[in-house]
Amino acid sequence: MNIQKHIEELLESHGLKKTSARIEMLKIFMDYDYALSAKEVISHMKITHDRVTIYRTLSSFEEHGILHKASEDSHGIRYALCSHECPEETHTDEHVHIICDKCSQTYCLDDVKIPKIQVLEKFLVQKISYTINGICHACLSS
Ligand SMILES: [Zn+2]
Ligand SMILES: [Zn+2]
Ligand SMILES: [Zn+2]
Repeated sequence: MNIQKHIEELLESHGLKKTSARIEMLKIFMDYDYALSAKEVISHMKITHDRVTIYRTLSSFEEHGILHKASEDSHGIRYALCSHECPEETHTDEHVHIICDKCSQTYCLDDVKIPKIQVLEKFLVQKISYTINGICHACLSS
């Protein structure tokens, strides 16, 4: 399917208006195989939008189950596309993420599910994340 059409359908299915900023941002996410911070998204955008719009759009995509938080570091939150339809508000794509020690990019391992962890009954689990550090394929082959 044509990318433009795919993005428009994605926005439509989540009840989001097809604004040029939203379409351009999702195109950028589809162009990269690693998670992107707001700063990176802004630097890849051809049209200049104000930073507030970008930050607001990223969190709205997260609320709608289009993007999920892949990692968080001094560069801020890095978002990645959800591999399948996540329901609104809760993400069901609990997979392992790998952070490259060389380029510090975060990659989704969509097919690697987080192993089941026994949690003490005294705690209420809010979110589970599982991160591996390593060297990514791009850095290995350069
Ligand atoms: Zn998700
Ligand atoms: Zn790397
Ligand atoms: Zn991910």
